[in-house]
Amino acid sequence: MQRPFNFSAGPAAIPLEVLERAASEMTNWHNTGMSVMEMSHRGQAFMSILAKAQADLRQLLAIPDHFKVLFMQGGGIAENAIVPLNLSRGGEVDFVLSGTWSQKSLKEAGKYAHTHVAASSEATHFDHLPDPAQWQLSKSAAYVHLCSNETIHGVECHELPDLNALGSPAPLVIDFSSHVLSRPVDWSRVGLAFGGAQKNIGPAGLTLVVVREDLLGQALQVCPSAFNYELVAKNDSMFNTPPTYGIYLAGLIFEWALAQCEGHLAGIAALEQRNIHKAQLLYDVIDRSELYVNPVHVANRSRMNVPFFLRGDDGKPLLEATQPRNAAFLKAAEQSGLLQLKGHKSVGGMRASIYNAMPMQGVQALVSFLQDFEQHHA
Ligand SMILES: *Cc1c(COP(=O)(O)O)cnc(C)c1O
Repeated sequence: MQRPFNFSAGPAAIPLEVLERAASEMTNWHNTGMSVMEMSHRGQAFMSILAKAQADLRQLLAIPDHFKVLFMQGGGIAENAIVPLNLSRGGEVDFVLSGTWSQKSLKEAGKYAHTHVAASSEATHFDHLPDPAQWQLSKSAAYVHLCSNETIHGVECHELPDLNALGSPAPLVIDFSSHVLSRPVDWSRVGLAFGGAQKNIGPAGLTLVVVREDLLGQALQVCPSAFNYELVAKNDSMFNTPPTYGIYLAGLIFEWALAQCEGHLAGIAALEQRNIHKAQLLYDVIDRSELYVNPVHVANRSRMNVPFFLRGDDGKPLLEATQPRNAAFLKAAEQSGLLQLKGHKSVGGMRASIYNAMPMQGVQALVSFLQDFEQHHA
């Protein structure tokens, strides 16, 4: 049986091959007689799983040696506190606001640091990423926070800014929760990147942190030890018991990602190419239709999260999920095997999240459905 296509923003679809492999290894991993869930995190078997996951991730994202890879817990939202606890030194921190997630980060960081909004697109309902050339960066910021893909508003930063060239000596911190592994990262422009796993990396419960070594060792006194990057790094992500099963599944996804190919491209380059094509197909159909609309500036549209609205007979976007046309759309989509297309409650409308695990056929099925629905129901 063909599984339905799952457009959830997160926790999100996982490649079927990965789920099947995990199922086959569930009760007896590599003849150890144990499930990965039942292993000591300090035993040889799990240590080998962790080491391979880390090495594969480093290869996939071309992470330079002077960055540490940390597997932590708490998700992206906990990192909103953990980052300022580790990097702010209680001083000033710059924020770029491009959607709900950066807004949340700003609010939480305010508990530990002096926050400064360097740029914001809130006035236009977060329909674009403020142009880096216009950011009002402070001279003394401990770091600059940017959410490089705003999952709810569908706004993605397609070229990370060079802060030095913009006159700021501060390191750039990116929340890459919802587009990690979808494209390469320019590490020369990044001080720290963090992300929850449940979009592109695996199950909820695992948090990935990639941090430049020179940023370690400046945590505030009050920083919980389990969240102190220096301690976590020193202990190879084993200061406390790490989310072992999540790390194992992430490792399977890294292997899956490394094995992807597209023409002469492999790994992340192949995934990026596929993601570009998937997003292009979907945005083209939305832009060409009379019924659907995506409000985001073309240059900042996300390849991963595509929010869109159906228009009412007056041409205005229909926000409420309970509105009859929206309700009919969601019901018909589900009947066609297209799941979880309802938009985030704060913006309404629809959202198709098309992470790595969404195959081209899934996006093709969605665009056929969109065209069909427009013809027959509107
Ligand atoms: C999903 C998401 C988070 C949050 O994750 P939690 O796991 O709920 O803490 C943070 N930032 C972004 C950009 C996200 O998409």
